[in-house]
Amino acid sequence: MKGLIMTAPLTMGFQEIALREIHPNEVKVNVKACGICTWEQKAYTKTTYPFFGGHEICGIVEAIGSEVKTDIQVGDTVAVASLTRCGTCYYCRTNQDNLCLYGESKTVDGEAWGPAGFAEHVIARDYEVYRLDPQIDPALGSLAEPVACVLRSVEMGELDYGDTVVVQGAGIMGMLHIKLARLKGARVIVSEPDAGRRDKALAAGADHAVDPFQTDLKQFVEDLNGGIGAKAVFFTAGGPKAVEQALEILAMGGTLVLYGSLNPDTPIALSPNKVHYTEIRITGASKHTRKSFQEAANLLSQGHIDVSDLVSERVPFAQYDYAFERAVSPDTFRVVFLMEDETEEA
Ligand SMILES: [Zn+2]
Ligand SMILES: [Zn+2]
Repeated sequence: MKGLIMTAPLTMGFQEIALREIHPNEVKVNVKACGICTWEQKAYTKTTYPFFGGHEICGIVEAIGSEVKTDIQVGDTVAVASLTRCGTCYYCRTNQDNLCLYGESKTVDGEAWGPAGFAEHVIARDYEVYRLDPQIDPALGSLAEPVACVLRSVEMGELDYGDTVVVQGAGIMGMLHIKLARLKGARVIVSEPDAGRRDKALAAGADHAVDPFQTDLKQFVEDLNGGIGAKAVFFTAGGPKAVEQALEILAMGGTLVLYGSLNPDTPIALSPNKVHYTEIRITGASKHTRKSFQEAANLLSQGHIDVSDLVSERVPFAQYDYAFERAVSPDTFRVVFLMEDETEEA
């Protein structure tokens, strides 16, 4: 089969990959769509090469191993999670399988490493395959993985109905936080310097969108809810100043969720006494759990979250150079490859 391999910065091409036989606990999926996520966008300029990217995968089940213990059937439309979980380490046993000590991204035969979804087929462990509604647009189905990661993040925020929350940044991850926090019944204020993105955030369901460089965010939040502050702040983008600001606008007992990372990693000012007296919490959110992935598959299949505004372009697999140029452009949310069918085995 054809796989898209990066061999150097800004350099990639199709290579013929010999797909091995599936093991008894594995599923073979014919890839229909695969999103170009931040991991692949970063690898576009810097990683260990050769790299075989693609971890936001939607496809059709083509073969099932003899010992697969899920109810997945040949022909099912599925999303594929790209990281394995050992199931037995401390974290897997304590509902934190996203932090699995032995999880790894699938490798394929040959020297290229990576999740290998930029391909005509993927082989996945049975528990990594999640059924989607058969009618779902595969490009939207490929968003199951980012939705699952953001569900984990919103879960860390421990929201109650009617809570006021702030989402910092209105890139695709900020947009998903808006939609999922709204589903949790929260009032959502977006902090985003770019006017175009603020408009998109409002269209996506944010209740308010402010420019943190023009508006006093703390005052804005407190004016809305009687001086209480934000029950949760979800940091998806910004620098160390934004993280410090997040701590200032939290309500007592509120939670800052560091969903995004800082590049470079930068220490911030933190008052231990403020944490002591106000019981604010600071946590992160990393990857997805099996639970959050199942929830993402459910929400997308049931149509309870609309992600169609987040697929900026659907690009035929063969136009990979164009697809990556568009994916790294700031004016796109997600660029998704659509794999062609004509090379399927006869
Ligand atoms: Zn991703
Ligand atoms: Zn584990």
